[in-house]
Amino acid sequence: DGDGEQSQDYLFKIVLIGDSSVGKSNLLARFARNEFYPNSKSTIGVEFQTQKLVIDGKEIKAQIWDTAGQERFRAVTSAYYRGAVGALLVYDISRRQTFDSVGRWLNELHTHSDMNVVTILVGNKTDLKHAREVSTAEGQALAEAQGLFFMETSALDSSNVAAAFQTVVKEIYSILS
Ligand code: GDP
Ligand code: MG
Repeated sequence: DGDGEQSQDYLFKIVLIGDSSVGKSNLLARFARNEFYPNSKSTIGVEFQTQKLVIDGKEIKAQIWDTAGQERFRAVTSAYYRGAVGALLVYDISRRQTFDSVGRWLNELHTHSDMNVVTILVGNKTDLKHAREVSTAEGQALAEAQGLFFMETSALDSSNVAAAFQTVVKEIYSILS
């Protein structure tokens, strides 16, 4: 703030969870680097990416963790969740099975982290309009029932990607301030 005072640093750990291939790594690639990988068979082993956001004139660093494919083996470790204050729980609107897994991921999240972790339910791949298997209303209803934020995104066409991450960061910040 330019008056010589030490400005406070905020660092929020946010985890990406959800079934394999729902688009977690591409949501992060889109948000942090504005990149998209059409054929990302295996996730490049990035542990996390740090992205700066400005909320209320305060600089906040979001340290966003990616599973690096661990979820394929149902082996997301407790270290992954440790210290997380936010989570994006992602499903694929074109694969109902990934929506049916949401409850299991919520259990896992609450087993390994604080009950108060700010969570947004994210229905990804809205660009696949003709393949949609989960309606917006269903996503919304589940989020309301579980007390989660909700947004539908497309990592491919970028819609709502930044908004989904920002929703989580803003809410964490508002709880702390
Ligand atoms: P992860 O396993 O959850 O990390 O999923 P990935 O990010 O690796 O994505 C799995 C596959 O879905 C890749 O082929 C991506 O290109 C594709 N994908 C990811 N997000 C989207 C999206 O919003 N729309 C479409 N059409 N494909 C996507
Ligand atoms: Mg991945």
